[in-house]
Amino acid sequence: MRALTVLPGKADSIKLDEVPAPPASDGDVLVRALALGVCGTDREIIRGDYGAAPPGEQRLILGHESLGRVEQAPAGSGVSKGDLVVGIVRRPDPLPCPACAAGEWDMCHNGQYTERGIKERNGYGSEEWRIDPDFVVKIDPALDMLGVLMEPTSVVAKAWEQSLRIGRRSPSWRPRTVLITGAGPIGLLAAMMGAQLGLELHILDRNDKGLKPELSRALGATYHAGDLGDLKADIVMECTGADPVILEVLKHSSPPGVICFAGVSAGGHKTPFDAGQFNRTMVLENQAIFGTVNANRQHYRDAAEALAKADRKWLARLITRRVPLSRWHEAFEHRDGDIKVILDFTAQ
Ligand code: BGC
Repeated sequence: MRALTVLPGKADSIKLDEVPAPPASDGDVLVRALALGVCGTDREIIRGDYGAAPPGEQRLILGHESLGRVEQAPAGSGVSKGDLVVGIVRRPDPLPCPACAAGEWDMCHNGQYTERGIKERNGYGSEEWRIDPDFVVKIDPALDMLGVLMEPTSVVAKAWEQSLRIGRRSPSWRPRTVLITGAGPIGLLAAMMGAQLGLELHILDRNDKGLKPELSRALGATYHAGDLGDLKADIVMECTGADPVILEVLKHSSPPGVICFAGVSAGGHKTPFDAGQFNRTMVLENQAIFGTVNANRQHYRDAAEALAKADRKWLARLITRRVPLSRWHEAFEHRDGDIKVILDFTAQ
């Protein structure tokens, strides 16, 4: 079967490979791929900056934003032939640490977790994949190809769950406004969930026209192209990972604020930073900053609920390009106007 593979650590080693059928050891549920979402993490792996092959292997099958249809599933697995499914990305570490032992693999303490398509486990970028029934998630068939948005939505569902939980350290805290930086897939899906929570939304991005402002405004958000003025928000979700934006958002959180970092930075750029002023604000305003990554099963459930409630036409507009597997390289090119690009395994 065909699969997109990379040599982790080596730039531009990605190719459409011929690989053996997925091994039975990957799990009892056999899935035929329908689509695969492409994200910044995939691009980092392709650049050779991130990712690791399964132990004893050289190449890694790429892809963690999955969507497929069950081909075979044993009785009692919770899914049956024909079901639309996605695969959970992370697997608990082998020890396991207390978090992984409790099903909170997204909070792993020792970093020995594995991730499909990212860290030491083959991903979902192959025509067929196998999965353990414990890590498969059934999708509402009505979502159809939009089900490929499940994984990024699960990451956002965790960001919301954690932000609200952290905010409640002050029992009287009632969030009213949220500032989301970055109108990419993560930022827009975060905004979609914020709208479902009835919050006043502010979205910051560079583009002053095009689909990003349109999709933001369709959620009822105020869209800021550049300047935030004196805006203060109860929750700030930083989804760009860009150094200047990271520093900028610190000024826009209203006490006792919650600042959630959900975008991963590349690192390596030194920016002048007033640590003392930062500490002063954090302490005197009871501010909380935290980082969040990945998602556990509960977050996938929350994501399923959010996607079911969302306007399908709005969701469909997030997917700006569908690239057939045979033209896979186009999926990894940056093109103006891209929001979410997917590889379509059903197209020729
Ligand atoms: C994925 C997460 C993963 C993270 C770090 C993200 O792109 O969506 O599931 O945990 O990368 O590897």
